Amino acid sequence: MKRICPVVALLVIFVVNSFAQWTPRDRNLSVEMLFPGGRSRALILSFDDGFAEDRQLIGLLNKYKLKGTFHLNTGKFGTPGYITASDVATVYQGHEVSCHGYNHIGLKGLSDTDLIYEIGENRRELEQLSGKVVRGMAYPFGSYDERSLATLRGLGIEYARTVNDTYAFGLPSNFLLWNPSAHMFGQIDYNGNTDVLDMTEYAKFTKLTDDFLASKGLALYYVWGHSWEYKKKWTYVEDFLKRVSNRDDIVNLTNIEMVDYLNAYNDLRISADKTTLYNPSAVDVFIRITNLNAGAEPRSTVLEIKPGATQKLSDH
Ligand SMILES: [Zn+2]
Repeated sequence: MKRICPVVALLVIFVVNSFAQWTPRDRNLSVEMLFPGGRSRALILSFDDGFAEDRQLIGLLNKYKLKGTFHLNTGKFGTPGYITASDVATVYQGHEVSCHGYNHIGLKGLSDTDLIYEIGENRRELEQLSGKVVRGMAYPFGSYDERSLATLRGLGIEYARTVNDTYAFGLPSNFLLWNPSAHMFGQIDYNGNTDVLDMTEYAKFTKLTDDFLASKGLALYYVWGHSWEYKKKWTYVEDFLKRVSNRDDIVNLTNIEMVDYLNAYNDLRISADKTTLYNPSAVDVFIRITNLNAGAEPRSTVLEIKPGATQKLSDH
């Protein structure tokens, strides 16, 4: 009979034992992102153009403790119907200000020189007026072309919203082509009388809100619009804000807060054995881990991974 060297035997036992701590079956965990606070529903409110009616809209948002993102055209400031430059640091306090072009010109077909002025100058002025770093935009008229995306990145723009309503609650797959869920209140008819509420469109919008409030999985409800549309619709605006505010099951974020959150989640480092998570970002990240081996009823745990923290899944 062949003798086994004792040192090799010991080494084999040691290796087997150390691997025995975690088998593929033990690591049969699913890791899912949750929104801030461990919630599964998130709400973004995004308004364009910076008309004087923004003051009334922000009054309502503040009343319901909601925050929005306001896409502003600095070249229009102080002209009839628009807000003034001094409003940026006061009226919009607590909300996000973001680019919408200097002159509100569609970006499709613009030369790089014009694009750099439209967005770069818009961004520079908003930053000067707000004292904040401005990192996003909404496309004027929803107009862009693929060629302009690289220039936008070069101008420090990290997200840009389109006007292509999805009537769904998905996350953006490309921040520079961020499609919203819906325009408030339904499809906008730029050639029609926007003062009058289209009841068919309103019913569609209300149904979408119902669906969001009853959603089961992760749901981002991204609503956009313009305060100049609400001249005869303020009670409807308030009704909507009332429905989605002061709820423990919804987190309300600005556009850029959502960008930072999704980036922080995607930047999580997970160890090869799926037992240790490291959050290198400055943002609190919430995840749900589910042990898929726990029998017929999977066992789930919600974890908060604080900025800079290393967290062991094996403790849960
Ligand atoms: Zn606009």
